[in-house]
Amino acid sequence: MLSSVVGQITDSATFVINKKVMELRNKGVKVVNFGLGESNFGIPPSIVRNAKNAISHNAGYYGPVKGLKKLRTSISEYLKKYGLEYNADNIIMDAGSKHLIYCLMMILAEPGDEAMLQTPYWVSYYDQAILSRLNLNLLRTSEETGFKVTGQQLNDSVTEKTRFFLINSPNNPTGVMYSRKELKDIAKAAVDNGLFIISDEIYSEYTFDSEHVSIASLGQDIKERTIVTGGFSKSHSIGGWRLGFAAAEPEIIDALAKVVSNTTSCAPIISQKACVDTLGSEEDSSYVKDSVEKCKVNADYIHKFFVKEGITCVKPNGAFYIFPNVSSFFGKSLKGKVIRDSTDFAKLLLEEEMVAALPGSDFGVDSNIRLALAVPFEEVQEGCERIKSFLSKLKD
Ligand code: PMP
Ligand code: GLU
Repeated sequence: MLSSVVGQITDSATFVINKKVMELRNKGVKVVNFGLGESNFGIPPSIVRNAKNAISHNAGYYGPVKGLKKLRTSISEYLKKYGLEYNADNIIMDAGSKHLIYCLMMILAEPGDEAMLQTPYWVSYYDQAILSRLNLNLLRTSEETGFKVTGQQLNDSVTEKTRFFLINSPNNPTGVMYSRKELKDIAKAAVDNGLFIISDEIYSEYTFDSEHVSIASLGQDIKERTIVTGGFSKSHSIGGWRLGFAAAEPEIIDALAKVVSNTTSCAPIISQKACVDTLGSEEDSSYVKDSVEKCKVNADYIHKFFVKEGITCVKPNGAFYIFPNVSSFFGKSLKGKVIRDSTDFAKLLLEEEMVAALPGSDFGVDSNIRLALAVPFEEVQEGCERIKSFLSKLKD
């Protein structure tokens, strides 16, 4: 008999859709893949060179638990651009920031405490909280609130069991970004209520029109209770190389190190060596700038498309996702199949037009679907054509 928690979580929806897409593509089907959110812009050449070099120099060993000091120092330098002052001892590396967020849920709260998340949330936050034996305290957002929570909402919803609020800006799945003013209000509410903040800043490089603001940069009191997480998966197209980091007070980093040393042991040594002198180099800046520009073009194009189709859709300011509201199609049908919810919508869209997207229900909001946009522009154009054709076939 397995633990009851197994029945309360699901396979990550992002990987379930990716498996389906790969199966179809292996059969030769031309799928437009707006499913898994990963950047496919090619690995920066300096990272490839360094990785090859590391392999030739026998980098097969375990690294230090917190990660290579040189890499942590380069991250501490890099974070200065967001007004964050951390030294290498304030930083830990791990096999992906996803695992660090899970570790944080375990070290910041006792079983039975509350994890505060906003809806829509990124799929894995929810299941990680369940795995950590936490209860969910969900702050609802919608198109009307720009998919953002306010400090007031946090104040009104906090209970004596709430331990942390997890914020993700630029956001997956909506692409929205919190402004400095909005973050200040949330920071005040967190400080007033004694909450920790997990600030997932994995998309900090992906900003279109406004600057990324880290909540931890807004004052010493909020910095002391914030853990910033980030990584190389999105910014450098190496999601499979598993390299993420967390920056926080030394006490929190030491606690994370205890968990990391007993679970993943350390971040992959080849990935660390590959990225050790990447951040901030000229090649790096132009690579990232180019990738972000591609995502911005895609986001603008597809946003215009949805608006033209009369679909409510908040315009993304960053990350590489868009979250249109498709609830006006619920009740319609295609070939005798009725669309009752976002799961039906996404399923039929894949069956009928071979366009992969994720139902909003996986993110806690059933009226919408999520499309991941870090794909070639031609794929976005083709995807829009296919979605248009799909919508035109739906009958009342
Ligand atoms: N946070 C968000 C919002 C994400 O979309 C992802 C997906 N990669 C992660 C964290 C985890 O990233 P990684 O583990 O690859 O660092
Ligand atoms: N973060 C990506 C997404 O939301 C995929 C990778 C993952 O889920 O860990 O699609």
